Amino acid sequence: MAIWNLGSINIDHVYRMEHLPLPGETLAASSYSVGLGGKGANQSIAAALAGAVTRHLGAMGEGDEWVIQRLQAAGVDTGSIQRLPDNVTGHALILLDSTAENSIIINPGANRALQAAMLEKALRHITREDTLLIQNETNCQVEAARIARAAGARVIYSAAPFDLDALREVMAHVSILAMNAGEAEQLFAAMAGELPVEALLITRGAEGAEYRDLKTGQVHRHPAFPVDPIDTTGAGDTFAGYFAAALDRGNAVPEALRLASAAAALKVTRAGAGDAIPSRDEVRVFLS
Ligand code: ATP
Repeated sequence: MAIWNLGSINIDHVYRMEHLPLPGETLAASSYSVGLGGKGANQSIAAALAGAVTRHLGAMGEGDEWVIQRLQAAGVDTGSIQRLPDNVTGHALILLDSTAENSIIINPGANRALQAAMLEKALRHITREDTLLIQNETNCQVEAARIARAAGARVIYSAAPFDLDALREVMAHVSILAMNAGEAEQLFAAMAGELPVEALLITRGAEGAEYRDLKTGQVHRHPAFPVDPIDTTGAGDTFAGYFAAALDRGNAVPEALRLASAAAALKVTRAGAGDAIPSRDEVRVFLS
């Protein structure tokens, strides 16, 4: 039982300012901070903090050792992260104004330059007891999902950022398709017919989450826990990582939804992404 997560690693540079710069305008930031982000890194941290043996499969440029240390501190196995000397580590420039409106530039860098041969070598050891997580911020998702399914592993795909072509390509190898409400709407608008996956996991922000088993038709719902949200960045990733870890541990879907909802609720009460994901003990205290 282990979670393998093929996912992005981003360094988030966050600049706060009174208003977002207009074309041609130069502005001084009122504050600057650097944090760990990327849907992949966030989900690995969440799964590891939730207690799952978690291996991150991703890529970075050279240097940025603090990123590796941050992942390891959460308990993530970083031994399969590819170091690509010709690429920079993925990064995001996040501009936030005084009303929390944002503008974001992402440079995917190494995240989209993963070497398939190295990835396939690492995935040779995945077993039918394991889970593969993928999102849509790297390359090689289809190769990885195909290998994992051939080994009998569960494959959970977070369809974000949403891209219908990417989804169509990978879908035949996916067990659980995870989306937020907006992504689900886009999916249903484009594909009304039968989906080849076993289940849909749909999160709806403060309105909670649902799991639809497409084989039995059973639907499990869990409301969001009432909290005062400060920053919802990474809520979906926290949810996905905790949910995957719970299934990996053998929990049934209703319990997995409960734990994931609690972890995501705690996350939204804190600023930041990867650095703000709660530990299993914090989730336990929150639920007690
Ligand atoms: P993000 O892109 O910000 O990471 P997302 O759009 O992928 O998030 P959401 O559906 O917004 O994902 O949120 C995921 C889960 O987080 C929800 O199902 C819920 O359990 C929890 N959550 C999100 N917002 C809130 C909130 N305001 N209060 C409590 N829980 C929340």
